[in-house]
Amino acid sequence: MSRKIKVKTPLVEMDGDEMTRIMWQMVKDKLLFPYLDMDIDYYDLHVKHRDDTDDRVTADAARAIQKYGVGVKCATITPNEDRVKEYTLKKAWKSPNGTIRAMLDGTVFRKPILVGNIKPGVAAWKKPITIGRHAYGDVYDNFEMTVPGAGRLEVVFTPADGGAPQKELVKDFPAAGIVQINHNLEASMRSFARACFTYALSEKIDVWFSTKDTISKKYDAGFRDVFEREFAEHWKDRFARAGIEYFFTLIDDAVARIMKTEGGMLWALKNYDGDVMSDMIASASGSLAMMTSVLVSPYGWYEYEAAHGTVQKHYYKHLKGEETSSNSMALIFAWTGGLRKRGELDGTPEVVAFADTLEAAALATVESGVMTGDLLLLAEKRPTNRKVNTEGFIDAIAGNLKKKIDG
Ligand code: NAP
Ligand code: MG
Repeated sequence: MSRKIKVKTPLVEMDGDEMTRIMWQMVKDKLLFPYLDMDIDYYDLHVKHRDDTDDRVTADAARAIQKYGVGVKCATITPNEDRVKEYTLKKAWKSPNGTIRAMLDGTVFRKPILVGNIKPGVAAWKKPITIGRHAYGDVYDNFEMTVPGAGRLEVVFTPADGGAPQKELVKDFPAAGIVQINHNLEASMRSFARACFTYALSEKIDVWFSTKDTISKKYDAGFRDVFEREFAEHWKDRFARAGIEYFFTLIDDAVARIMKTEGGMLWALKNYDGDVMSDMIASASGSLAMMTSVLVSPYGWYEYEAAHGTVQKHYYKHLKGEETSSNSMALIFAWTGGLRKRGELDGTPEVVAFADTLEAAALATVESGVMTGDLLLLAEKRPTNRKVNTEGFIDAIAGNLKKKIDG
């Protein structure tokens, strides 16, 4: 084999838990290190090591991404009471993803991996639809109350600078009912808009943004205005040069239209809309194991990972010595996403080309009929289809990768 490809700047690696930790190691050993000469800035986010360091390792990892710009992350356990017992943890530490997202002020973009022999639920879709979900406000941080009977509901805003309080009538309740009050922050909406435009420019895809602005004339229309202003002030020319567009439309219209497009855009959505629509896109596109996820910070930092968790059930089977057939596609694409971005930032086209080749080898493996159990259920039935185990799948990809690189 020829000499290894040099990755110029260290890549920040965050190791994880359970079945994904096992696959992660295999991916490194069989698909990456045989071909790459790369320095890794390694952070072990294994739940026990997070516990040992009082979770400092998670913050250290986020700071490393701030320093170098690109990180790749394995799936990690978010501890709950069961996990605290299972691993005898000091406490139920916060979700590492939440900690990292807060430190990078990032937005999460999820994009399905499409293969030729698994047809999306929507026949028109040929290219992946990426969802960008705002991660602040709406019903996730709302105020709710039960109104016991007839009466008046008012809200009062008291300015911090000592100005006159502003009182508004919400509703004169004729009888019992319920109330929900949502809020959002100008800075958070702007960060979200920036992250969306950053991502779209990086991927060279159009941005669709949709809200219910015709009905919600301050809240949803407020989002629309923040996006419009941000776009006009900072992105219009860059988008024009890249040949991509920003398009706002009413959410009803977006839902109807998206079914008839061939895909290939970023669909930016408010927190609740994104929660719902991302599950629809995931289901229509196949399996959770085929969904990639990238955290994009408005400061230009990127963190790539798989959208799925640690695949706990498969791990317990593995511990019992039973055979597993876990799918490493999204983990592989986390690495290729990170390597491609690293190569772009470093100006090393050979690193970008390696990421492309590895992705092509992985896709070709599934398209040749060699796949894990989750995909076998979804793929077109062909006589060449063959279910392989966790390691067998990575070995098959390694075989295809070697052929592509040698040939
Ligand atoms: P999960 O790990 O995503 O797995 C749920 C189910 O989806 C699995 O049991 C499996 O179904 C299927 N699946 C997911 N990924 C797969 C893959 N790569 N190959 C084959 N099948 C796959 O979710 P979970 O079991 O609810 O969560 C386990 C742990 O992950 C939790 O501790 C949670 O905190 C953590 N988590 C972490 C992240 C993250 O780090 N980003 C995200 C979500 C959850 P079958 O059992 O039917 O085969
Ligand atoms: Mg959801």
